[in-house]
Amino acid sequence: MPQTHALRRDRAAAAARAIGADAVLVTGGVNVRYLTGLASSNAAVLVQGDGSALLATDSRYAGTAERDCQDVGLLVERDVASALLGRARSSGVQAVAFEDLVMTVHAYRELTSAEHSPPGPEMIAAGSAIDQLRMVKDEDEIALLDLACSITGQAYSSLLDRMRPGVSEREYAIALERAMIDLGADGLAFDSIVASGPNGAVPHHRAGSRRFEPGDLVTVDCGAQCGGYHADMTRTVAIGEPSAWQREIYQLVADAQAAGVAAARPGMDVQALDAVARDMIEAAGHGGHFGHGLGHGVGLEIHEAPIIGYGRAGTLDDRVPITIEPGIYLPGTGGVRIEDTLVVRAGAGAAGSAQPLTTITRELLVL
Ligand code: ZN
Ligand code: ZN
Repeated sequence: MPQTHALRRDRAAAAARAIGADAVLVTGGVNVRYLTGLASSNAAVLVQGDGSALLATDSRYAGTAERDCQDVGLLVERDVASALLGRARSSGVQAVAFEDLVMTVHAYRELTSAEHSPPGPEMIAAGSAIDQLRMVKDEDEIALLDLACSITGQAYSSLLDRMRPGVSEREYAIALERAMIDLGADGLAFDSIVASGPNGAVPHHRAGSRRFEPGDLVTVDCGAQCGGYHADMTRTVAIGEPSAWQREIYQLVADAQAAGVAAARPGMDVQALDAVARDMIEAAGHGGHFGHGLGHGVGLEIHEAPIIGYGRAGTLDDRVPITIEPGIYLPGTGGVRIEDTLVVRAGAGAAGSAQPLTTITRELLVL
């Protein structure tokens, strides 16, 4: 995708110019990958105001960079940021934007403290300006997300028969993760959450030694990762016939989730979208049992812009993938969460909608 990366670098250059810089030094690994295609634990890229770029990485990744990133200059150095800042200085850059959200205080001091002749360029904090470039996806990115979501759904479906009394959260999680890899995932989007019985009251419970029991609700939050893109899906099932309170909170979460999905479209304010689901849960008296935001963007990171929650700012747009994931958590008792990954799409002449990429049934399965 060399042309794709060049277009992205043009947008990064424009973002730098918009904050008064004539170049941007990108040091966040995810953003370096987004702008060049190189996945590396030690790389940085300097994008000049005209979009031309210099990629720096160490010898471990030099061969991959030579092969896959032929449309950028390459500098093989261990200290990638200072090597690129040196190049910026010698090429006459006056002001360089940098990623203050990822650069450590230590690295910043090292970069700017040395005596240089000529002196270094002015450093301008870019905040989330480069991250924001990743919010609207192209169709190749959406195809990778779609693949990751479909693998997630297939793996989950193939493991439903392991949801039975006596199987531990951890045994189930390992089998699920193994299934995702076997189906072709490049990796896992995150450590799977398997929360059974009272553990379901902890939104990010780590799969442990507890064994499933009759009468449990079990919440599974999992995702495959393909080509760097992260799927995110949560389902809650009942082991044995559910009780009245279990059915009640399940239906409430399912209705709130469906309302959130139905409301997501281009132009929607993220705080207003959160309120669509939250108001329903609050009206039923469970406002205090839903402590997290309604959802988040997904892509090269599992949580990225836009964050959909109370007090957040932002507007949905065409081709923005998000999750919708309301939950109700009753301390010491149990919980329910239902989550889909969706792509917001502009409609043909209509207001648009959100297309689910995770499509497993949201009806309460009684196993
Ligand atoms: Zn999730
Ligand atoms: Zn999520």
